[in-house]
Amino acid sequence: MLKLNRKIAQLKPSKSVTLMAKTKAMQQRDKSIINLTGGEPDFATPEKICEEAYLQMKSGFTHYTDGPGIPKLRQALAEKLRTENHAPYQEDQILVTPGAKYAVYLAVQAVLNPGDEAIWLAPGWVSYPSIIEASGGVPVAVHLKWEENYQITFDALEEAYSEKTRLLIINYPNNPTGKVLSPSDREAIAQFMRSHPDVLLLSDEIYEHIIYTGYEAVSMASVPDLFERTIIVNGFSKSFAMTGWRLGYLACSYEIFSVVMKLFQHTISCTSGFLQMAAVTALGCSEDTEKMRREYEKRRNLLYEGIRRLPGADMLKPEGAFYAWVKFDLGMNSEEVCNYLLEEGKIAGVPGIAYGEEEKVCVRFSYAASETELRRMLKNLEALLTKKK
Ligand code: PLP
Repeated sequence: MLKLNRKIAQLKPSKSVTLMAKTKAMQQRDKSIINLTGGEPDFATPEKICEEAYLQMKSGFTHYTDGPGIPKLRQALAEKLRTENHAPYQEDQILVTPGAKYAVYLAVQAVLNPGDEAIWLAPGWVSYPSIIEASGGVPVAVHLKWEENYQITFDALEEAYSEKTRLLIINYPNNPTGKVLSPSDREAIAQFMRSHPDVLLLSDEIYEHIIYTGYEAVSMASVPDLFERTIIVNGFSKSFAMTGWRLGYLACSYEIFSVVMKLFQHTISCTSGFLQMAAVTALGCSEDTEKMRREYEKRRNLLYEGIRRLPGADMLKPEGAFYAWVKFDLGMNSEEVCNYLLEEGKIAGVPGIAYGEEEKVCVRFSYAASETELRRMLKNLEALLTKKK
């Protein structure tokens, strides 16, 4: 028996990534399967962005670049963070990473020592607890409640706090619930952070441009007394349909940055130059982002109106991101519901348990899928649920 790294060997595989791959393989055999597992825009990357990458590659911008990112991109990101997010980071506080996921990993590695605790909010993105565990930290979930519209309270955060707490991770607009930070959520987080000056805040803002109603996406880094302790993570995958480009970034204080850079230098060196040049172009593509957002909004309305009227199912109205978070009352747990929907209705979603939702039976369906597919999903779901009733 090989003696491998126990901490890593014991990590659970990412359920959404595994299910997405499994469903894609099943679709090869059965074209009628409706795959709503992936957190991936179904739109093509805007033409201008691809053109720029191609031109840069042809012109020979194909070697190592400045480690933390090319100056042009870091400057553009600093400008974006300052004007859009009111987060006044300097360009040398910004690191360009291969995807936001790696930025989360770097930040968590840089902050936690073995045994330190990091609080994450459930339901929440599947990778946070595993990334915390990979760094030797201990994930502590705060279970927000469906009945309370997944509102954050100071008391709930406080209950999760211990002397070992070093980090709070938040993600808004949220994957999987589609919630956006409300003013009262922000206040609860700010109060918690002010009560614990040795805790850092990691704010994953990857869905910031995909918002429909409710509140604006306001970054916690814009709160002046929290700025120094906030690490922003963001990326190009969702806003610009660039999942396969693997481009993200983080911004943080100089002190944290210098630690993050050590790990970055020894594990990645830099991201590719022609992709970074194309990322500069992407930052000027807000019209394309807005077109996609409007499409997602139409699909959100379609699913919300369709699912709410079905027996045995309920849905929160997503305020952002592109996920339908649906609660089922079928006398099965969320994995059983997913198996049932796939086997009997050809609908593939991700079970809520993967996101730490333990109380309610929920399933996440991505509506980054065509309207035709979503209409087919509604038809199949209606047939199943009315039969079940
Ligand atoms: N953060 C959240 C909340 C996500 O949902 C995802 C992707 O699904 C990521 C980060 C990772 O994004 P990237 O493709 O930039 O690694």
